Amino acid sequence: MHPFTLSTVDDPAAAIAAHARDPELAFIAGGTDLIGLMKDHVALPQRLLDINRLPNMARIEAVPDGGLRIGALTRMSDVAADMEVRRRFPVIAEALLFSASGQLRNMASMGGNIMQRTRCAYFRDEDDPPCNKRRPGSGCSARHGLNRNHAIFGWSESCVATNPSDVAVALAALDATIVVRGTAGERAIPSTDFHPLPGDAPERDNALWRGDLIVSIEVPACAEGRASHYLKIRDRQSYEFALVSAAAAVATDGRSIRSARLALGGVAHKPWRLRAAETALRGASLDDIDTLRTAIARSFTEARPLAHNAFKIDLAQRAALRALQTAGARA
Ligand SMILES: Cc1cc2nc3c(=O)[nH]c(=O)nc-3n(C[C@H](O)[C@H](O)[C@H](O)COP(=O)(O)OP(=O)(O)OC[C@H]3O[C@@H](n4cnc5c(N)ncnc54)[C@H](O)[C@@H]3O)c2cc1C
Ligand code: SF4
Repeated sequence: MHPFTLSTVDDPAAAIAAHARDPELAFIAGGTDLIGLMKDHVALPQRLLDINRLPNMARIEAVPDGGLRIGALTRMSDVAADMEVRRRFPVIAEALLFSASGQLRNMASMGGNIMQRTRCAYFRDEDDPPCNKRRPGSGCSARHGLNRNHAIFGWSESCVATNPSDVAVALAALDATIVVRGTAGERAIPSTDFHPLPGDAPERDNALWRGDLIVSIEVPACAEGRASHYLKIRDRQSYEFALVSAAAAVATDGRSIRSARLALGGVAHKPWRLRAAETALRGASLDDIDTLRTAIARSFTEARPLAHNAFKIDLAQRAALRALQTAGARA
């Protein structure tokens, strides 16, 4: 294992300043992704700064208007078990409960979860095959290699990886914001903008700059939150990343959809919102399966499968439909 030093910090300003001035320093929260990346020699920070003692970052606050503020250091298991999360936004609790394992969820933080790096096998391969995300300019082994688990939306010739976070999909569907503090102060990043598409710079996984610390995740109140559901489809039933997943949230008038929110996981470099489908679903009956199917298909005209993952186009549409129906049954 690559050698490193470990220190702790209890002042956010000191943490931000240390990170900003030292390119060899990395924040560590639960360590469940970072340590794996270090073991595989993908990340080689010389100094780890343990941020777990930073104050007020491990709590969940119910905002009076019906929203929630989730501290970046809150553990996944605590968020999944929180009664307000389960009542206001079941899609968040379900996305977390379908993630990783109980032990990992007890260690892993919410901030670390949305920061986790892709599970593309080439990226994490100790033998270091060509991978633009790991070594910019080296090529993409997955583009014409084994790409069953890879993207069908928004990929580039430089990278076809998917984002592995489950809860990021739920957060995208709910239009959550990521609150970040950096050397220039605090800013809120829409969760749908937090993960970029790969373009020509797939080494960039998120919208953070050096010195940026994720402080919290804010989930605004929304009419669709309570009737929401997360469906995850994977190769084995537990302890596995999504092949395809769907977050759905819906507000209804009787059985008629007033508004719907849909996002997919396992299909792109970022959680993928189905905006065209959401528009087409307005006014549709939850009992009219053909109309629901046609509306969802509107968002798939831009899908571009790779050699081994064309099956995801059908699977993702079915997942979106089933998630929507389950959410609708809760309305
Ligand atoms: C075997 C296994 C299975 C898994 N299965 C799933 C799954 O099914 N679904 C899923 O969603 N995830 C899964 N995960 C991923 C897991 O959820 C993440 O590893 C975890 O959420 C990361 O959180 P952490 O606190 O341990 O982050 P760390 O490993 O401590 O940090 C990860 C990254 O985030 C940065 N970071 C952490 N906190 C902050 C902050 N506040 N501000 C700025 N940067 C920060 C760190 O510097 C580092 O770069 C799995 C992981 C493993 C090992
Ligand atoms: S898909 Fe992205 S992460 Fe995977 S090998 Fe290609 S460049 Fe690397």
